[in-house]
Amino acid sequence: MLQAVFAAPHRIVVEEAPIPDPAPGEALVRVAACGICGTDLKINEGHYLGALPIVPGHEFAGVVEALGDGVTRVAVGDLVAINPNLPCRRCAFCRTGKPHLCTASQAVGVTRPGGFAEYCCVPAELLVPVPGDLPLAQAAMMEPVSCCLHGIDVAGVKPGDSVILLGGGSIGLILLQLSRAAGASFAAVSEPRTEKRKLALTLGAEEAVAPEEIASVAQALPGGGAEIAIECAGVTAAARQALSLVRPGGTVLLFGVCPPGETVALEPYEVFHRELTVRGCYTNPFTDTRALSLLESGQVLVEPLISHVYSIEQVEEGIAAVRAGETVKAQVRPG
Ligand SMILES: [Zn+2]
Ligand SMILES: [Zn+2]
Repeated sequence: MLQAVFAAPHRIVVEEAPIPDPAPGEALVRVAACGICGTDLKINEGHYLGALPIVPGHEFAGVVEALGDGVTRVAVGDLVAINPNLPCRRCAFCRTGKPHLCTASQAVGVTRPGGFAEYCCVPAELLVPVPGDLPLAQAAMMEPVSCCLHGIDVAGVKPGDSVILLGGGSIGLILLQLSRAAGASFAAVSEPRTEKRKLALTLGAEEAVAPEEIASVAQALPGGGAEIAIECAGVTAAARQALSLVRPGGTVLLFGVCPPGETVALEPYEVFHRELTVRGCYTNPFTDTRALSLLESGQVLVEPLISHVYSIEQVEEGIAAVRAGETVKAQVRPG
């Protein structure tokens, strides 16, 4: 089979490799589509949890081709989406209902071989059956949608809320749709690129404006700001701006992966006097099947987000396009 290996920082090798044999408890999945994520850029730079070399790719769906010993919950031919995160189930966090904070977790495409390959062996417990006739390319978006869903849960979006999203990439546009699905009556997107602003308007935003205009959108809201502002671009300056866009009592959710080590100035008096809440959210605890349901029902549309498709041979080109901000969502589709 063909696979793309991140061999060393900024070095990608596309090579032939034997189709792996599923170990006991694993299934061999033929990959139909695998998203390229910001996390993959960080892995490519050598800056993330996993160690190089690795076959990355943690946002994928495909068809079960073979089963290792003891696997009974899926069958050959089943269509499945992959939840890449495998907690240890033994640490203090796993034992208290927070497996996403596991101190010994593994992840497909991060610490184990992932979906930038024609085939991938996945622990069967991470496979989620794809419902109905949801296309596999859309089912491959289960992982990012499930992470966004955890974010919406953590932010506590309620019917009637106003939400401002800083960043109109695929994550911002998923969080936008989830905000509306959670009942937000107003959503605005701050995004520098015109095409992404247009897409935001078709996906449920009342307003989509350039970052320098979002402050006046916020000020025009009742109470002078949104109930909830979500940083979805991984831009540290936007995280600081988000604090100024919520009204008193508001919540700022830091969803984007900002560069480690960067800081923002926080005035404790402001947080006190305006009774602000600042929350983080990490990965996707207990949200994978809900994410698939939202995709199947059409409450979250991902087809309009998939802007670029690459073969395995083109992974390097795809990574470069994502890094340049040219894509909304890019996928690798073997074959
Ligand atoms: Zn991802
Ligand atoms: Zn654990």
